[in-house]
Amino acid sequence: MRESGYDVKMNLISMKSQRLFISAVVIMWAAADWPAFSEEGLTISNTKKQVSRQDDLKQKDNSYWKKVLTPEQYKVCRQGGTEPPFSGTYVHFKEPGVYRCVACGARLFSSKTKFDSGTGWPSFYDVISSDAVELKSDYSFGMSRTEVICARCGAHLGHVFNDGPAPTGKRYCINSVCLKHEKDSAE
Ligand code: FE
Repeated sequence: MRESGYDVKMNLISMKSQRLFISAVVIMWAAADWPAFSEEGLTISNTKKQVSRQDDLKQKDNSYWKKVLTPEQYKVCRQGGTEPPFSGTYVHFKEPGVYRCVACGARLFSSKTKFDSGTGWPSFYDVISSDAVELKSDYSFGMSRTEVICARCGAHLGHVFNDGPAPTGKRYCINSVCLKHEKDSAE
């Protein structure tokens, strides 16, 4: 079927919009200041200071998190940023153990559910327990996604998609900078 002049025009506009969007994303990434990952000053929870287990972390304001987190952790965990693909510590990491929230130390994922998604971010097909994370609709950047948040401290972790492997079919696409791996023989 031949396309009308109107259809051709609309297709061209749509293609231009897509190109514009991709260019904008690339420019934003290039412009972002991504400091090198550093272990400097980190404690067991991988933050600048130890977080008390008694703290109601969801009530803490940005000034608190700026003191607790390194700049790169703050950018992703508190501002919803995304580390560049294939840049994170855990993309190809295969050691057994648990992955804790870098901000509060909560147990989030097991190495048993980690898989190579090829996306450039650590990927898991399940969470370590059903109450470990909270999910929230995210319509930023013109996309419809489901954001994954640490249930204990509210840190942004990444997004979950429905194109993961069996048995769940889920792909939790998580930023390395939000995680701290811990060897755990029980896992
Ligand atoms: Fe947390």
